Amino acid sequence: MNKSQLRRHFSDAEWARIRALADTQQTPFLVVHLDTVRAKYQELREGFPTARIYYAVKANPAPEVLKLLAGLGCCFDIASRYELDLVMGLGVTPDRISYGNTIKKAVDVRYAYEKGVRVFASDSEMDVRRIAREAPGAHLHIRVLTEGTETADWPLSRKFGCQQEMVVDMILLARDLGLDPAGISFHVGSQQRDLGAWDAALAKVKFIFDKLESHGVKLRQINMGGGFPAHYVNRTHEIPHYCEEITRFLQEDFGDEMPEIMLEPGRSLVGESGVIVSEVVLISRKSRYGLHRWVYTDIGVFGGLIETLGESIKYPIFTERQGKPEEAVLSGPTCDSMDIMYEDNKVPLPLSLEEGDRLYWLSTGAYTTSYSSIAFNGFPPLKAYFV
Ligand SMILES: *Cc1c(COP(=O)(O)O)cnc(C)c1O
Repeated sequence: MNKSQLRRHFSDAEWARIRALADTQQTPFLVVHLDTVRAKYQELREGFPTARIYYAVKANPAPEVLKLLAGLGCCFDIASRYELDLVMGLGVTPDRISYGNTIKKAVDVRYAYEKGVRVFASDSEMDVRRIAREAPGAHLHIRVLTEGTETADWPLSRKFGCQQEMVVDMILLARDLGLDPAGISFHVGSQQRDLGAWDAALAKVKFIFDKLESHGVKLRQINMGGGFPAHYVNRTHEIPHYCEEITRFLQEDFGDEMPEIMLEPGRSLVGESGVIVSEVVLISRKSRYGLHRWVYTDIGVFGGLIETLGESIKYPIFTERQGKPEEAVLSGPTCDSMDIMYEDNKVPLPLSLEEGDRLYWLSTGAYTTSYSSIAFNGFPPLKAYFV
């Protein structure tokens, strides 16, 4: 990407602040621009003025990010007891925490319950019974299986949720076991660019609400999960557009009897705040007349760019180096041939690119530090700095 494309992500003044920090550090590392997180939270807040927003901690669990969001009134969606400890350690009270992972041990449910957490998600009979046993009386969201795998760049759908008829059975079971079956949750898949996925999911939720009403159960909450996109190479609509359209779907389905809405954004709040700074280690061609260069950088799939697996997430890449671009394969530094970020989607990089040149990976604030390996090939985990 060139300088004018960079300005779609950061103003000149913002970029200058990021660079002032970056220029003093050794690569690879992530810089998180906290004002962007704040702006993305406020944008979603305005788009859904009455919703409760639970930040999905796993997207970027840095205390700096969590403290900022906590201060703005955000709630938190946790995936494990460790994230629970992290968030509560920052002073967040358990009434602002939801245990959204449907896969958890009995001891973890008990642990969260003893800490005061009262909102859990589930999608299986075994887990509903477990929650009833370990967290008596808790509020429960049953997660419905949604489509959208085709249109999400990082799908989550197959592994989680259950079919709508089964959701109905599970809600009735939860009620019979003394839990509070508060509502239905779903997740349309991460980096979901197709609004139709929310429309389809809400239609299922509506079906379940109606069905349960005929059984005498009145649900009161919809947890719409995350999935809101960040800007990468592939364009998406702006967040306010998603908010408007999803609100319209909600109104069409529920009209005057609007349930309470919960959201669990991860990527959309932190993705665009991050810039990974890396350095070119090696440039080569594989044969004397090789058509394209292989460019190896000091960050790769295992160092924080896991979402490039399958070339799913295509990060915009900026370099100061000018000159005629030519497409290159971009690869990481480890002795593992999975450690290639972009081979089918080659990246235009200047022919004048040299060893030691810095590459800036934009929109890398989500699922990078939290996904980086601990010491694969001896490389340390991805460092993060905050401006
Ligand atoms: C990962 C996750 C999220 C966040 O998803 P994004 O696509 O990053 O917004 C929300 N809810 C649950 C239950 C999750 O597992």
